[in-house]
Order: sequence, then C-alpha cells, then structure tokens
Amino acid sequence: MRIILLGEPGAGKGTYSIELVKRYGIPQISTGDMLRAAVKAGIPLGKQAQEYMKKGELVPDSLVIELIRERIKQDDASKGFILDGFPRTVTQAESLEKMLQGLKLSLGMVLKIEVSKALLLKRLSGRRVCPGCGTTYNIDTMRPQKEGICDKCGREIVQRPDDRPETVENRLVVYQKDTAPLIEFYEKKKLLRRVNCEGEFEDVMGRIYAAMEEVAKV
Ligand code: AMP
Repeated sequence: MRIILLGEPGAGKGTYSIELVKRYGIPQISTGDMLRAAVKAGIPLGKQAQEYMKKGELVPDSLVIELIRERIKQDDASKGFILDGFPRTVTQAESLEKMLQGLKLSLGMVLKIEVSKALLLKRLSGRRVCPGCGTTYNIDTMRPQKEGICDKCGREIVQRPDDRPETVENRLVVYQKDTAPLIEFYEKKKLLRRVNCEGEFEDVMGRIYAAMEEVAKV
C-alpha cells in the first residue's frame, strides 16, 4: 500500500504515520525528517535546505524530488510506504507520478487530514521534539513522564525553530499557496479521501484505519 498523508503543518501527519507504520509494517517517508537529518549532519543538502526551513519556506522541488527518488527504491519500501510531507507542490506530485509509473507502481490513496485552524495552531505551539532521537511530544496532550525530558533518551526536549509563532503563520500561508492545490489534483484522480481528525486519538485512528482498509479491499 502506497499512501500520501496530506494536511497542513501541525495536522498530525507524523503522529498518525507512526501508528500506521506499526500496524501495516511499511515505512514512513518524511522529507521534513530527512532534511532535518541532513541539516544536523552538516552535509551540503542540509546547508542548502536550512535557510528555507528556518523561514518556513519550501526547499526547492529538485532537492526533495531527488531525495524521494532514491528513498522509494530502497528495499524496505518495496511493499509500500507512507509519504509524510511529500509531495508539497504540484511539480512534486507530477514527478512522483512519473517515478511510480517508471517503477510500475501506483498510489493507493491520498489521505487528507482535516482539522480546524484553531487545533493546528494549538498542536504547533505545543509541539516539542527531542533533538537526540526525534521523538515528538506535546505539552498539552502528549507530555513526557518527566517534564521537559525525553522518555526515550533523557535529553531535554525543545521547540522546533520553525514551530515558533513568527514562522508558523508563514508555513500556513505557504501551505495554502503551494500545497492546497494538491487537494484538487488528487480529487480529479479519485485518490483523495478526507478524514476528520478532530477528537479523541483512538477515534481518529479508527477513522484512518477504516479509510485504509477500504482502499486495501479494492
Ligand atoms: P515538515 O517536518 O514536513 O513540516 O517539514 C519541515 C520543513 O522542511 C518545511 O517547512 C520545508 O521547509 C521543508 N520541507 C519538508 N518537506 C518538503 C517538501 N516536500 N518540499 C519542500 N520543502 C519541504
């Protein structure tokens, strides 16, 4: 099963991906995580991406398209994958389509995560991450056992620089301008499935699994 999670920054793509990875045994492929790893490693790709990321802008299409081209060919992605944060522009979506065609593969579904702007802002402002192992927390809804400390590796958790209020607003504007057109793009291809992701976590996951299972039957 090859699926795309589509939704605004803060919609919960990363959190839902983790559950889907556990349930379906296919990898999450997050361009945001890959770019942050490149920044941390100080490699040329990270150096190129860093300035865009800091401002909440999208990094150039060519950079992320190459990342994905290599990643989806890896062995662990042979039975499927969950794309989290890619594609984010129509150019990226068209490239993905060509890549998959070249590999004789197809997309199963584009799951559009639907949450209100109020909830997005709450999730983004409360999000904290561990700089060591990358585990994500939320100071309102998913606190670590010991305040401010990662449960898994004991490091101090921090706010992502691009989750600060001055950058968040720009990321939402960029989403509307560059990424929201993908809704119509995939609607036309009859791949889009909207899921209401407000409410209790278990209920939300239930709705996501129901959407996944409907597609798996086809
Ligand atoms: P994310 O963790 O998905 O919110 O991504 C963090 C940042 O990485 C974004 O604000 C962009 O600067 C960059 N980024 C991640 N994925 C993409 C993509 N598919 N296209 C362009 N930029 C991206």
